[in-house]
Amino acid sequence: MIQAPRGTFDILPEDAVRRDYLEAQVREILGAAGYRRIETPTFEATELFARGVGEATDIVQKEMYTFDDGGGRSLTLRPEGTAPVCRAYIEHGMHKLPQPVKLWYVSSFFRAEAPQRGRYRQFWQVGAEAMGSAAAETDAELIVLLADLLAALSVRDVRLRLSSLGNPETRSAYREELTSYLRAHEDRLSDEAQARIDLNPMRAFDATDPRTRETMRGAPKLLDRLDDDDAEHFAHVQALLDDAGISYELDPTLVRGLDYYTRTLFEFTSDALGAQSGVGGGGRYDRLMEQLDGPPTPACGWAAGVERMLLAASELPVRPELVDLFVARANGDRAGARTAFELAQDARRAGLAAQLELAGRSLKGQLKHADRIGARYVAIVEDAEHASLKDMESGDQRELEPTDVIPVILRGSRLS
Ligand code: AMP
Repeated sequence: MIQAPRGTFDILPEDAVRRDYLEAQVREILGAAGYRRIETPTFEATELFARGVGEATDIVQKEMYTFDDGGGRSLTLRPEGTAPVCRAYIEHGMHKLPQPVKLWYVSSFFRAEAPQRGRYRQFWQVGAEAMGSAAAETDAELIVLLADLLAALSVRDVRLRLSSLGNPETRSAYREELTSYLRAHEDRLSDEAQARIDLNPMRAFDATDPRTRETMRGAPKLLDRLDDDDAEHFAHVQALLDDAGISYELDPTLVRGLDYYTRTLFEFTSDALGAQSGVGGGGRYDRLMEQLDGPPTPACGWAAGVERMLLAASELPVRPELVDLFVARANGDRAGARTAFELAQDARRAGLAAQLELAGRSLKGQLKHADRIGARYVAIVEDAEHASLKDMESGDQRELEPTDVIPVILRGSRLS
């Protein structure tokens, strides 16, 4: 039997209803703040991610679905949305539009990760990006918008961690300082942390080994090494979040798996999730546009996982699917079949949710089915001139001409 590939899943109608609700919330919350929808292609030139996400990241090193398009060009199923949106910004000359350009998306992404609860190889993200603004208000507003979205979806036990990465220059000076510190304390680090000193010294902050953790308490922190402008920007972001009543923890060891971040960095987690507790996160990426050969453009954004938000959400108030009318057949009369078919179409044009019997059930079977799908009325068509209409709530039934079915339902008149 052929099954869905490992790490992928089907979105069944019950799930689709919850996703529609989520998307409606995204549209409302981000739309109200002036964000507009964008969708980019499912695959892009591999180079976009190599340059945009960073050659040294896990995503680019290990997790991309890359293939040859048959003409010798290397393409990759998108592992994330920011680099594609920047590519589109550059390609369409959006720097000529009033700034910032504020965009959102709900798209699927692909990463060859080991599947587990909340981690898939094809997954969906909601993303928001504001390009062309260096203002701290942009960072704070984006964080508030994601907090609002999580609240609207009643995502449980949410926590926000916040940090600043400064700029690439202070960051590389800090990296040297941290590397020297780790070298000087090498004998007090786990083998794993030792092995990573040159490759990724920041990882030592995530160590679980107690001695390494103890050693890292004394390590220099990037947040204490920000230059004046970056420190001022970060202080402003924090003040705005404080004013907005958003609580957060400062986490100077926060790292995310993408290379392009500068200044503000944040992540929302939910304690209602297991090991994969990250719900969404993002930050500022002031240098990314240039890295992709675009005009220097400060920008900020976030992405949140749809599956994780839904996993951590309480019951969502999804609307029940209504059926106003089920059109049943009393017999196999050919003219009656055409009348029934037409009645269902006319009912929909008149604004009713109407379903037609399509499975050749007996009349009894049709009434049972109509009851199961929660139909409010059932029209039982006999032939072109004769039908009866049954009110499924009261059980009342009356004979009428097929052409009277819709007016009677619309008037809501009693049947007996
Ligand atoms: P990232 O693009 O890595 O910053 O991820 C942003 C959010 O997307 C995470 O917080 C998760 O909610 C979600 N996410 C990332 N990778 C996966 C995955 N493999 N499966 C499901 N959700 C994911």
